[in-house]
Amino acid sequence: MKTTLAIFNPATATLIAELPADNAASVAAKNGLAHAAQPGWAAWPLAARKACITRFRTAIVAELEGLAVTLTLETGKPVSMSRNELNGLLGRIDFFLAEVGAATATQTVFREDGMTEQIEHAPLGVIANISAWNYPWFVGGNVFIPALLTGNAVLYKPSEYAAMTGLAIARLLHGAGVPGDVFVPLIGGATVGAALLEQKIDGLFFTGSHATGSKIARAMGPRLVKLQLELGGKDPSYVCEDADPQLAAEALADGAMYNTGQSCCSVERIYVHEKIHDAFVAAFVASVKTFKVGDPMARDTYIGAITRAAQLDVLDAQVADATAKGATLLLGGQRLPGPGNWYAPTVFANVNHDMALMREESFGPLIGIQQVSGDSEALRLMNDTRYGLTAGVFTHDEARARTLLAQVNAGSVYWNCCDRVSPRLPWSGYGDSGIGLTLSSYGIQAFTRPKAWHLRQV
Ligand code: NAD
Repeated sequence: MKTTLAIFNPATATLIAELPADNAASVAAKNGLAHAAQPGWAAWPLAARKACITRFRTAIVAELEGLAVTLTLETGKPVSMSRNELNGLLGRIDFFLAEVGAATATQTVFREDGMTEQIEHAPLGVIANISAWNYPWFVGGNVFIPALLTGNAVLYKPSEYAAMTGLAIARLLHGAGVPGDVFVPLIGGATVGAALLEQKIDGLFFTGSHATGSKIARAMGPRLVKLQLELGGKDPSYVCEDADPQLAAEALADGAMYNTGQSCCSVERIYVHEKIHDAFVAAFVASVKTFKVGDPMARDTYIGAITRAAQLDVLDAQVADATAKGATLLLGGQRLPGPGNWYAPTVFANVNHDMALMREESFGPLIGIQQVSGDSEALRLMNDTRYGLTAGVFTHDEARARTLLAQVNAGSVYWNCCDRVSPRLPWSGYGDSGIGLTLSSYGIQAFTRPKAWHLRQV
C-alpha cells in the first residue's frame, strides 16, 4: 500500500508537499540492503569517506540559500536562523573531518616480550538515527557525519516535521558519493520510527522528547543494542548581583527566545539575585520587546511559527497554571491570530517551582523569572529538576561561577553565556535529558566499538 506524508507550512497552515512515505516492509527491505552495503563502505580508506563528506560540505555551501528556505518552509524557523544553522554545520563538519583520523586510529597500548595489545575502533555496523525537527542539520549531522566517517551505514529517520530537509540531506550525501544503501532516509512519523526499532540494527541514536525517548528505551531494552538518547531540558541560568543586568538580560532573552524557544538548550528558567532583580526584569522585557514576530521568510524576523500545533496547548496550559498560581504576566501570554501556529513571546515574573513553567519543558517563547536571595537558594533551585542538559551563571567572579557550576547537575555549564553548543565539547545530559553523547572526539568514538587485540608473536 502506498502511503504519503503531508507537509504543512506551520506559518501559514498550507500544504506544501506530499512525500512518498515508508512502511514496515520498506523499512525492513532497506535495512537488509544497508547490512549488505555496510562492510564495503567500512572497507573504503578513511580518506575516501572523508572526501565524500568534504564534497557534501561543498554542496551545502553551493545550495545554502535553497536549503535554508526549505527548512524555514517546513518548520517555521526564521530564515536567518536557518542560514545560521547551515553555516554552523560547516564548522561541525570541519571538526569531524579534522578529528576523525586521530580519534579512531588504532592504538598500541602495550608491547613486551612478543606480546602486543591494540585497541581498534571498529564501526558499529548499521545504525538507526531517529531525529528531531528543531535543528535537523545540527542534530542529524552530529550523528550521521561521524557515523559515516567511521564506516557505519545509517538508516536516517528525519522528523515528520523536517522530512523535506531529510530528503535534501540524502540527496546531497548521495551526490557526494555516499552509496544509496549506506545512507538511507526513511520518511514517516512515529509508526516508521517504531518499525525501525523492530529491525536488526547495531546502534540506535535518538534525538527528541523524553516521552518518546523513554518509550524507545523500553522497546530496545531487551535487545541489548547500543542506545543513545538526546532528550529535552529545563535549562536554568542564575544572574548574580554583581552581573551587569543589561548585558545578562540581553544574553538570556536571546537564549530563551532564539528559534522561537524551540531549542533543547533554550534557557527555560531564570533566577535573579534580589539586589538586581527589578533592573534585570525591566531590561529583559525591553529586550524581548525588540524581537520582531512575523513571516519566517522575512530577513528581520526573530520569532517565527511554532512548528508543532500541539505545542500551543502545552504553552496555553503552562500560562494558565502560572497565572492561577499567582505569577505576574509581563508580556504576551496568548496565541497570536493564524493561519498557522503562533504564540506571543511571553515573560512571567514572581514564579516558583509549584508552577509547570518552572518544571516542564516549555519548548516555546515562554520564560519565568524567579527572584532568589543568594547562591545557595539559586543552586538548590537549579538542581530541582528531573532534567540536566545545560545551566549557566552570570557573574564577574569566575571563581564563584566555577564553584556554583561544579555543583550543578548538567552536561554543559556556561559562565556568562548560554544556549551554546561547540563541536569540540561533548554534548550530553544528566537525568531525563538522556544517555550517551555526541560531538567532541568522544562523539566520534561513540560510533565505534573499541575492539581489543591481543597479539602474541611466536
Ligand atoms: P519527538 O520525541 O516528538 O520526535 C522525535 C522523533 O521520534 C521523530 O522523528 C518522531 O517521528 C520519532 N518518534 C515518535 N514516536 C516514536 C516511536 N514510538 N518510536 C520511534 N520513533 C518515534 O521530539 P521532537 O518534537 O521531534 O523534538 C523535540 C524534542 O527534542 C524536545 O524535547 C527537545 O528538547 C529535544 N531535543 C533534544 C536535543 C538534544 O541534543 N538533547 C536536540 C534537539 C531536540
